[in-house]
Amino acid sequence: MIDASPFEVRTTCPYCGVGCGLRVSVDRTGAVTIQGDADHPANFGRLCSKGSALGETVGLEDRLLYPLLNGKRVTWERALDHIATRFKETIAEHGPDAVAFYISGQLLTEDYYVANKLMKGFIGTANIDTNSRLCMASAVAGHKRAFGSDTVPGIYSDLELADLVVLVGSNLAWCHPVLFQRLTEAKAARPEMKIVVIDPRRTMTARAADLHLPLKPGSDVALFNGLLAHLADNGQIDGEYVARHTNGLDAALEAARALSLPKISSITGLSATLLRQFYELFARAERVVTGFSQGVNQSSNGTDKVNSILNCHLLTGRIGRPGMGPFSITGQPNAMGGREVGGLANQLACHMELDNPDHRRIVQDFWRSPKIANRPGLKAVDLFQALRDGRVKAVWIAGTNPVDSMPEADLVKAALRTCPLVVVSDVVRHTDTAAHAHVLLPAAAWGEKNGTVSNSERRISRQRPFLPLPGETKPDWWIFAEVARRMGWVDAFAYRHPVDVFREYAALSGTENNGSRDFDISALSGITQRDYDTLQPFQWPLVKGAQPGQRRFFADGQFFTSDRRARFVATPWRTPASSTNETCPLVVNTGRIRDQWHTMTRSARSARLMSHIAEPFAELHPEDAASRGITAASLVEVESLHGRIVVRALISEDQQKGSVYVPLHWTDQLAAQARVNVVVASHVDPVSGQPELKFTPAQVWPYAASWYGFAVLVQRPAWIAAGYWALARAKGGWRVEMAGERRPENWSDFARQLFDDAATHEVLAYHDSATDRHRFALFHGNRLRGVLFVAPEPVPVSRSWLAEQLENEFSAPADRLRLLAGRAGAESLDRGAIVCTCFDIGANQIAEAIRAGCATVEAIGETVRAGTNCGSCRSEIRRMLDGARIQKAV
Ligand code: SF4
Repeated sequence: MIDASPFEVRTTCPYCGVGCGLRVSVDRTGAVTIQGDADHPANFGRLCSKGSALGETVGLEDRLLYPLLNGKRVTWERALDHIATRFKETIAEHGPDAVAFYISGQLLTEDYYVANKLMKGFIGTANIDTNSRLCMASAVAGHKRAFGSDTVPGIYSDLELADLVVLVGSNLAWCHPVLFQRLTEAKAARPEMKIVVIDPRRTMTARAADLHLPLKPGSDVALFNGLLAHLADNGQIDGEYVARHTNGLDAALEAARALSLPKISSITGLSATLLRQFYELFARAERVVTGFSQGVNQSSNGTDKVNSILNCHLLTGRIGRPGMGPFSITGQPNAMGGREVGGLANQLACHMELDNPDHRRIVQDFWRSPKIANRPGLKAVDLFQALRDGRVKAVWIAGTNPVDSMPEADLVKAALRTCPLVVVSDVVRHTDTAAHAHVLLPAAAWGEKNGTVSNSERRISRQRPFLPLPGETKPDWWIFAEVARRMGWVDAFAYRHPVDVFREYAALSGTENNGSRDFDISALSGITQRDYDTLQPFQWPLVKGAQPGQRRFFADGQFFTSDRRARFVATPWRTPASSTNETCPLVVNTGRIRDQWHTMTRSARSARLMSHIAEPFAELHPEDAASRGITAASLVEVESLHGRIVVRALISEDQQKGSVYVPLHWTDQLAAQARVNVVVASHVDPVSGQPELKFTPAQVWPYAASWYGFAVLVQRPAWIAAGYWALARAKGGWRVEMAGERRPENWSDFARQLFDDAATHEVLAYHDSATDRHRFALFHGNRLRGVLFVAPEPVPVSRSWLAEQLENEFSAPADRLRLLAGRAGAESLDRGAIVCTCFDIGANQIAEAIRAGCATVEAIGETVRAGTNCGSCRSEIRRMLDGARIQKAV
């Protein structure tokens, strides 16, 4: 046990782009407690379920703690020398374009800056791209086409000040929960505020809206072209703003007017009445914010979607003023920082452009670099294609998991298998990508890292360490700098502390700027280490001599194009890159769930977070399920031209007919066949290069399971003999769902293999051979080691109750027998699926409160506490209340 003085650190959440501030307390034993930072302007003390559970994710289990070369432990010297030598050899033999970096929005700005400088300024190629390409590259491209710069004009408080908030392709309630809390609190205080949600699914966000437009997947451009025409035809043009500050309206209007209202209705699947209702709401409200996210960006016409939205704000002059403007809400904690620092293959640092000779000169002179990349590098999808066909022969992947997150993910796996040099720096030892690394480098994790991140409203905040670097782990900026030094660029990468990197970055942002570029934080170019350590969150720009403050862009009509005018962009309607057909009649849409993050390397460590949704699933409309013979809780295969997965069926009217929603999170580490991106096609937007992750034609049919199983066990099973399985942490151990096409010959042997140490334990078994139902419970003394249920159909046991039993004592025979019943007795509590992870409140408890007369979310909170802490579950409680009301009505 550590016995040190307790302390508190102010830092930033490592999950989503809201960028919430945290106060982290570390007690004498080293135990970590997380609270929202009441002084942080992004969240003012609020947190969501993921942020609240961060303290449960900082353990060292499965951490990568020392460098590995071809699977063997080596020193840092050896690993770094090897990388530098192999990169130099590859460049000497094949040129700089034969090497590539693929990095991450999880990196801090300082990490990003050093990697970018090494690749673009010293190696001399722009073959460095980031997983942010998958997240918001279309927003970047749309901003640049309209504004001449990648500028998010507004700030979070605009969402609170607006009369109308339009959310497009954004499940804010689950993906940016604290921003959603801010919005719903503002609406509660000002009920006249209207919220419109545009999303094919009836998401938790849509349930909170005044109006939900469940448009057909991929049809957003038609919808917003119709809005542009409606605004123009109904006297809503801000003539002075348009005349003085914009170009290109005529062409944009011509493209928009090419679609009649009936045609838009047919493309979007929305009635003319619903369309008019939305158009009129937009027309009448002066203060309008349009927030958009991955549903807009992850599309083969994502950039046009963005510009069709921006066109409407430019036309009405509703931009850059309080409560007005388009608002790109970024996914990752530092996606915005990556954009600022030029982490994408088509950018230079500090919002300078690769294809601008002046910008290349400024950056090269500043870096005093021998060369500078002079054309865009390979964007993510092209980068892995180049790996596959051998053009790229050495790749360094930092802090990301492309074997799971890239479309056509099995081709990415194949590409890494054939690449002569794969370097992976990560915090986790076992990921689906790390399995293909020749060199594995142990990077510092959240809680150990020191640097800055930028959130969706251009606010730069500090991430501060509160844990020591474990084992031989190192910060990413240090790792990149050490390789650069070994490649011969000693002085240019002589950083001793992240503040050295930050100072240089801030100075570059102000170099030959004079207001010509939006990103300028030169006021901090001389920052001391002490001031860096205590730096308060601030929004950019922060030019030399200025004081921190809130700044919106573009109300003055001054854009960053050559003539300082914004551009309307004509966005003629075009269909998604692929279409459904007889073989693949359904559209697969992928996305996040409330309590998980990316490929679950951090969030899946928390049993609490796993108790919300413990298994991968495909959400289908009831008619699509019925026509395929798919029943509730059965398993389904989802198959496209590119691959196949097996997941649980979730049948719900929230899903529109013809569409299937599958979460993006599950990997081979936690499930047998649930990497959804093996199914997803790799079509990209022609401007942004962002892949279309929300529109893949596919088919779904029942998985021919002859048996199903559910187990709870103390030890993670080393091997699961089942065609389908999904593992999740539970309190005191693991829970696992299983199924198979062929029934094992002997269930006792199966149980022995699953539990591994069964021979040394007392086994209680129940067999019903006539119906082929079998149950096993293993005990060590009075402690439960595991329990297994198998049956020819999905086993009807109380999973959440069983998942809690590993920490209980079982001395009485009746208690042991109850375990085999798989349910709590009448005197015990069966919570049901956990809805409120803060207080462990399950669906059964909430249903009981509703039965007892609670009619509002607040009343349920007062009765069972659900929804009274982070608030992330309030939408689900509302859904339960709505369901109860409908039942009452029928
Ligand atoms: Fe973290 Fe939640 Fe805040 Fe996002 S909304 S930054 S996940 S606490």
